[in-house]
Amino acid sequence: MGKETLSLISDICKRLGFSKSAFVVMGSKTQRIAGQRVVDLLHDKRMNIDHLVVASSTIWAVRAVEERIQELKPQVVLGIGGGTKIDVAKLSSARQGIPFISVPTTASHDGIASPVASLKGLKKPYSVMAQSPMAIVADTNVIFRSDYRFTASGCGDVIAKFTSVHDWELAHKVKNEYYGEYAASLALMSATLVMKNADILKPGVEEGLRVVLEALISCGVAMSIAGSSRPCSGSEHLFSHALDLVAPNKAMHGEQCGVGTIMMAYLYEMKWKEIRATLHKAGAPTTAEELGVEPESVVEALVRACTIRPERYTILEEKRLSHDSAEKLAKVTGVID
Ligand SMILES: [Zn+2]
Repeated sequence: MGKETLSLISDICKRLGFSKSAFVVMGSKTQRIAGQRVVDLLHDKRMNIDHLVVASSTIWAVRAVEERIQELKPQVVLGIGGGTKIDVAKLSSARQGIPFISVPTTASHDGIASPVASLKGLKKPYSVMAQSPMAIVADTNVIFRSDYRFTASGCGDVIAKFTSVHDWELAHKVKNEYYGEYAASLALMSATLVMKNADILKPGVEEGLRVVLEALISCGVAMSIAGSSRPCSGSEHLFSHALDLVAPNKAMHGEQCGVGTIMMAYLYEMKWKEIRATLHKAGAPTTAEELGVEPESVVEALVRACTIRPERYTILEEKRLSHDSAEKLAKVTGVID
């Protein structure tokens, strides 16, 4: 991670033993931002490079990439993009047993470094296990040029760890679920560091971007250690997944998780106001209005959240929300008026 790390891509591939061939997955926008440069750099080293520009992060895009992998048999797959393209590359390479390198162009969520992938067209509205990247090449020059809204969304995904780690602990106590203190501490530390650095989380401050990027990468590592998304995805993520069903395509994943964290932290009687203040400082949404969703959608998502993934025990099992109690929760935390 750093300035101009993109120019190191062929060396990194070589060091990892990939000097013959690679397959690059990117979007049309990310092709312009970074993808074509990566293709050219690898081509210059006489590697056999093929690529596919994918339009969406669906299971059909994954199958299309898988077909190309079967045909071309590359040594490694590179995913270049803001998250969705990385997820397509991650899952298709995992299913074909090929290593994968992550090249993020935004800092919008922790999927840039995690072993899980979230895609449309799967039976479940949440992430599935794929594989951890062999390397993450995060060029801050490229990411710094992205819309700041992505970085603010990334803050929301990191702040989420305040409640997801508590949910994991709770599941350990109540359901005797495996709990790893190291992974939990790592996820929690990322959230704490983002909160501590809230003052520098703003457009045009590269130091702030680095804090968010490092936090997101650490969260990905925490999931790799835990072997699941458990340390990084709890009740606040269930709220976000439910909101995706109730009011699709309104806000970004991390933005929704951030708002969910405020409300779940309230249920835990944690420092929810401090969490809200951090999101506010970082320029991330803290209300339904800022998310661009109706107040009723937030209430409905809160009620539905516990049905999204019944096997994942969270605070929502302990404090079952009715329509009324959900509305009260959203009101008392200022998410709705
Ligand atoms: Zn997330």
